[in-house]
Amino acid sequence: MRYLRYRPAHRRRGVPPSPYPLVPGHEFSGEVVELGPAAPGDLQPGDRVAVDPSLFCGYCDACSAGRGNLCGNWGAIGDTVDGAFAEYVSVPAVNCHRIPESMSFQEGALIEPLSCAVHGLRRVGVQPGEEFLLAGAGTMGLLLQQLLQRGGARVTMVDHNTERLAIARTLGAQATATSVDELDGARFDAAVDVTGAPPAMEAALDALRRGGRFLVFGVAPEDARISLSPFRVYNDEITLVGSMAVLNSFRAARDLLASGEIETAPLLTHALPLDRYPEALDLMRGGAG
Ligand SMILES: [Zn+2]
Repeated sequence: MRYLRYRPAHRRRGVPPSPYPLVPGHEFSGEVVELGPAAPGDLQPGDRVAVDPSLFCGYCDACSAGRGNLCGNWGAIGDTVDGAFAEYVSVPAVNCHRIPESMSFQEGALIEPLSCAVHGLRRVGVQPGEEFLLAGAGTMGLLLQQLLQRGGARVTMVDHNTERLAIARTLGAQATATSVDELDGARFDAAVDVTGAPPAMEAALDALRRGGRFLVFGVAPEDARISLSPFRVYNDEITLVGSMAVLNSFRAARDLLASGEIETAPLLTHALPLDRYPEALDLMRGGAG
């Protein structure tokens, strides 16, 4: 599911999406088996690592400006080159981040999505005491919820799936609802859309207070459009920001997970071996992922 996150960037540049045949898988951790002869750093076979899938060119205008996630020659392991749904995957040594023994490889695979959430919240900002509306209680939404709460925000979660809302409540959501309409006109300092669904985005925008901030985190279809009042953006000083993947946020996400400050158990619902990969895809399509 997260794999789709990267497709719009490709389309924007007019490059076809992932060049199949390709091994997908960009959220992963594992054990170092072998090092290339010129691998920099002090990694050793046997080290446990999680891998930042980002492949930034380092020399384009965006990279030069420190915004490698907007790289003009953007690539990612599992998206533009073979990824981790395999027994072995070859990655740059500099993309490897050690994980402690206390962290399972399953948890290690959550570092990448958490690093997307870290980057997103750096973009939108969070202040203690703020009230956030979060639309979408999947894995990403539940990670964002926990980060927001750690930043001192109170979170109202909206999702049509009541089982996911129950998890959000367990994780400390101050309120939950199956739609914004159920919130009786409540207003929020900021909203984060994790659904990518235009109706959900419009409802969340309408629920902002004057001076509100809105983060587009979910991946909408490239041709989707939303209805927005330019007068209101002007008159209420609404701030609209986007967030694309990972930017210098991988290590922060690793450290947050390593510290045990992020609950992972409710998010890690299934563990399947590689030869049951098709079954995993079916589970995800069925809403379990
Ligand atoms: Zn670049």
